[in-house]
Amino acid sequence: MLDTIAAISTAVGEAGIGIVRLSGKNAIDIGNSVFKGIKDKELIETSNRRLTYGHIIDHDNNQIIDEVLIAYMKEPYTYTKENMVEIYCHGGIIPVKKTLELLLKKGARLAEPGEFTKRAFLNGRLDLSQAEAVIDIIKSKTDKSFQVSLNQLEGSLSSQIKGIRNILLSMIAHIEVSIDFPDEDVEDITYEELERDAYKVKSNIEKLLSTADRGKILRDGINTVILGKPNVGKSSLLNAILRENRAIVTDIPGTTRDIIEEFINIDGIPLKIIDTAGIRETDDIVEKIGVDRAKESLENADLLIAVFDASRDLTKEDMDIIELSNSKKSIIILNKTDLPSKFTKDSIEELVGDREVITASIAKGIGIDVLEKNIKDMFYSGKIDIESDTVVTNIRHKNQLEKSLKNIDSAIEDIKSMVPLDCVEVDLRNCWENLGEISGDTIGEDILDKIFSEFCIGK
Ligand code: GDP
Ligand code: ZN
Repeated sequence: MLDTIAAISTAVGEAGIGIVRLSGKNAIDIGNSVFKGIKDKELIETSNRRLTYGHIIDHDNNQIIDEVLIAYMKEPYTYTKENMVEIYCHGGIIPVKKTLELLLKKGARLAEPGEFTKRAFLNGRLDLSQAEAVIDIIKSKTDKSFQVSLNQLEGSLSSQIKGIRNILLSMIAHIEVSIDFPDEDVEDITYEELERDAYKVKSNIEKLLSTADRGKILRDGINTVILGKPNVGKSSLLNAILRENRAIVTDIPGTTRDIIEEFINIDGIPLKIIDTAGIRETDDIVEKIGVDRAKESLENADLLIAVFDASRDLTKEDMDIIELSNSKKSIIILNKTDLPSKFTKDSIEELVGDREVITASIAKGIGIDVLEKNIKDMFYSGKIDIESDTVVTNIRHKNQLEKSLKNIDSAIEDIKSMVPLDCVEVDLRNCWENLGEISGDTIGEDILDKIFSEFCIGK
């Protein structure tokens, strides 16, 4: 067992309870050294997986720190596979903080972000993709993204990756036998057999990759930017969408304090709208956050919503916006159609090519439902069955799958032109390793550190 780590595992602030956790070889000793049950010498050790009532006490000065429930969980059937102790303090900053400080004084080390989960991985309870699912569950913003992450934690992705790697391993083993014992009786693997198996690998990788775009959206939301010259109705549109989809989960502070992202949940599709402070008065993004930042959010956008005002003549600015929106998935809204129009829907349709133009009167609530339906159709065309499908949501996994696809493609080319088997083997091995980095079977320390540093402390 590794050294003993401690951390506050619940959000710090006013709350009913706050939980402090310990994991590692001295968890029980340290836990006992700060605990006093009602029967004077009650050892938490005797209470595997049961809650014991008592107090946290600093025995050095006999000071009571908090009234608590404490649970001891014996290895290996714990989150980390190590001995663990959980202390249920009163909520609020002081009880948990003082309890933690006492544990540190007694020899525990403050856990790094995600270190409990990292141990679950290092001790073989979870593979890496499952460990990563834990953070996605914590951060999930819609029921669907939660469900996908839960599937991943249950091992849906792991088992697919394992299946593909097993095919590769068997190919590699056959090749090695053919190379090592060319004259023996063992039957050599044929190029036909290799080709058949390689295509199996390829199609499985492609199947996973095909879910990645929707997976990213489920996990991170559709990056949406609303474009339009001043006064066309951008703020009104944002407010209308917000009103109808109240399930806003969080405001996530961006890199600077003046830009925030708002999450809106449209029937399970999270829309992440770039918002600037005071967006409701003047949401000219360029003016608010500067040309560079605006360009950046445009570059990162998955969806542009371009708004035009039918009651005023089209201007050069409108043309620029049409031009901008050509480069991305975009939805065109012709607003203020309740007022006398200065130009027709046809004339703007000519300018935007084959994109549909939604006629709207945002102020009167007309057109919002069509917009939402369009968004759903756009990103959910090949509807995924979340209950049964494995969805790749993690960009790291996607990158690894792409690498593995390159390597299997190159193996297939080699096989087709019947190059010597040891060359084929190199590609197969690379492919096998690429996939192993998803499950964490082959992975460097630096990548591990980076992955777990994204976690919160105490998980
Ligand atoms: P923005 O500058 O693009 O954000 O535009 P705003 O959303 O602030 O809207 C500018 C003005 O147009 C406001 O006075 C709105 O009430 C008005 N407006 C927005 N949508 C409509 C609409 O559909 N019809 C009419 N008549 N006025 C609208
Ligand atoms: Zn505005």
